Amino acid sequence: MTLAMRPPDACPALVLNADFRPLSYFPLSLWSWQDALKAVFLDRVEVVAQYETKVHSPSFVMRLPSVVSLRTYVSHSRAPAFTRFNVFLRDSFTCQYCGSPERDKLTFDHVVPRSHGGRTTWENIIAACSFCNIKKGGRTPKQARMMPARKPQRPTMYELNERGRAFPPHYLHDSWQDFLYWDSELEP
Ligand SMILES: [Zn+2]
Repeated sequence: MTLAMRPPDACPALVLNADFRPLSYFPLSLWSWQDALKAVFLDRVEVVAQYETKVHSPSFVMRLPSVVSLRTYVSHSRAPAFTRFNVFLRDSFTCQYCGSPERDKLTFDHVVPRSHGGRTTWENIIAACSFCNIKKGGRTPKQARMMPARKPQRPTMYELNERGRAFPPHYLHDSWQDFLYWDSELEP
C-alpha cells in the first residue's frame, strides 16, 4: 500500500490507546488530520507513523500523522492485552535466544513446548527469530541449551509504553494494516 501524497482530507489518523491498541474498533478510532495535529501540539499523543503528505503554515512544515498513540491510557482495565504486538514490544522486537533484532524474521516460541504441556501465556511465549525457533524445535530450554535472555512475564502498561518510546516513530508500523494485523489476540 502506498501512502504517498494524498490530499490532507484523505489523511485521517488511527488513534491508539497508550497500550498501542486502537482506542476503539467499532467504529475504528480515527481523527481528522486537524484533530490529530492539535493533539500533537498539545502533547497529548505521540506520533507512531506518518503520511508522506505535508502541511505548511507560515511557521512550520509537518508530515501528517497516520498513527498516533495517547500518552495517557484510557480505560478501567490496567492489564495489557495479550497480543502479538505487545509480546514483541515487551521483548523489544529482538530474539530472546540470540538477540537478533531482525523483526521480519521474528516468530513466537513456546519456551516450554506445547508437547510438554507449555501454554500460550505471557509467561511462556517469547519472541524468537525463525532460526532459533527451528533450532530449538520441540525441546525445553534445558534440553536445547537455549535459555531466554529474560524470564518472560506479563508486562505492565508502563513497561510497554517505555519500550515503545525507545523506537523511532517509523520503526514499528508502516501502515494501519500492519498495526491491525499485529494486534490480533493470541489464542490461549
Ligand atoms: Zn535467534
